[in-house]
Amino acid sequence: MKECNSCGKCCIKYSNGGLSASQSEIELWDVDSPNIYRHVHEGKIWMDPNTHEPLELCPWLKKEPTTSGLGSGSSKVRYSCEIYFDRPDDCRYYPSTLSEMILDECEMIEPKDIKNPKQAQKALEFIMADSRGS
Ligand code: SF4
Ligand code: SF4
Repeated sequence: MKECNSCGKCCIKYSNGGLSASQSEIELWDVDSPNIYRHVHEGKIWMDPNTHEPLELCPWLKKEPTTSGLGSGSSKVRYSCEIYFDRPDDCRYYPSTLSEMILDECEMIEPKDIKNPKQAQKALEFIMADSRGS
């Protein structure tokens, strides 16, 4: 199991109506983060503030400048979350199981994880402990 490489696949996949936020998260944004709250409508995220329709892409997903791999000449798009410290628990707790990671083609997975799912799940819990706390 590797660390998350910010490939953005999960954020892109769950952008369009695939995420939810709790009532307490919404209330907190209402009070403290009006810029986030404007993308909430009738308890749903992430919505267009004008049309109240779900946004195709999460408004907080930002493409990072690409850097070419040394010598390889290859470059990959990387993403960051503009509201990382205020993101919903749905995002904070992803990924939580190997099976969802396989389904989502998460790039944290290594071939050895498929061969030993129990060990992979343990490694995932260890890696995610930091992310879930922040
Ligand atoms: S809020 Fe942040 S972590 Fe969640 S989908 Fe958007 S960019 Fe990704
Ligand atoms: S799909 Fe996996 S590797 Fe890619 S950003 Fe999401 S958690 Fe990270």
